[in-house]
Amino acid sequence: MARVLILGGTGEALRLAEAAVAAGHAVTTSLAGRTESPRQPAGALRTGGFGGVEGLAAYLREEAVEALLDATHPFAARIAANAAEAAEQTGVPRLKLLRPAWQPLAGDAWQQVPNLEAAAAALPAGCRALLTIGRQELAPFLEREDLGLVVRSIEPLDGLPPQVRQIQGRGPFALAEELALLEAEAIDRLVTKNAGGKAASAKLEAARRLRIQVVMVERPAPPPGPSVARVEAALAWLAGISP
Ligand code: NAP
Repeated sequence: MARVLILGGTGEALRLAEAAVAAGHAVTTSLAGRTESPRQPAGALRTGGFGGVEGLAAYLREEAVEALLDATHPFAARIAANAAEAAEQTGVPRLKLLRPAWQPLAGDAWQQVPNLEAAAAALPAGCRALLTIGRQELAPFLEREDLGLVVRSIEPLDGLPPQVRQIQGRGPFALAEELALLEAEAIDRLVTKNAGGKAASAKLEAARRLRIQVVMVERPAPPPGPSVARVEAALAWLAGISP
């Protein structure tokens, strides 16, 4: 059984922590600390940044971590790169748990863009867009005063201009909810990052049904190294490296 550090902040990280504890591993989940009342993982929890690669490498050594599981969000590029580098420096085996990206289906009208700046630039003047991208990345959209914006986020947002409507919510969202929201807010563009997974995918089905165009922000490339898509595969990897 191994001493395991899970870099969390996703539903998979919670499921992985539960399964790894059940399998007898000594599990600590690490959260960045952005969400005020996060869901509590099984095992131990630590919160807050490590202080870059050096801080994470020091933590791995001090805590005698034997396996590092990066189960962070597909768009959390900084911590993923730090995890790869710190694992390299310390010789701690690392695995990336990365859920598959969403793929367009028949009936989808997606415009795929490389980043959020390109997403903001892709919106036509006068459109009414629902943004489900996280509160820290709104800046390029707020610069566009010619857009009607509805922003959905987990935490309340301060300092938004009065013309921007704010909706609080934490997934998973049901299809009926998403359809009702898109219709009630008269949305004609949906802006989302290609997070993948089921918890946030109902909005894509709703957009398909209502023939709403989707501006889909593509993922950053993950660091090189081993990667699995499913919690079960991560558990099997853990069993394989356990001393
Ligand atoms: P990021 O840009 O890759 O990371 C920024 C910094 O936050 C990292 O350098 C690290 O600080 C700290 N950090 C990030 N994840 C951490 C973790 N699990 N434990 C301890 N420190 C962590 O990440 P982000 O986009 O800000 O995301 C932060 C967290 O929110 C991630 O855990 C991610 O899974 C979750 N999340 C992100 C998104 C998204 O769209 N980006 C969506 C949902 C959930 P130090 O350098 O000081 O160690």
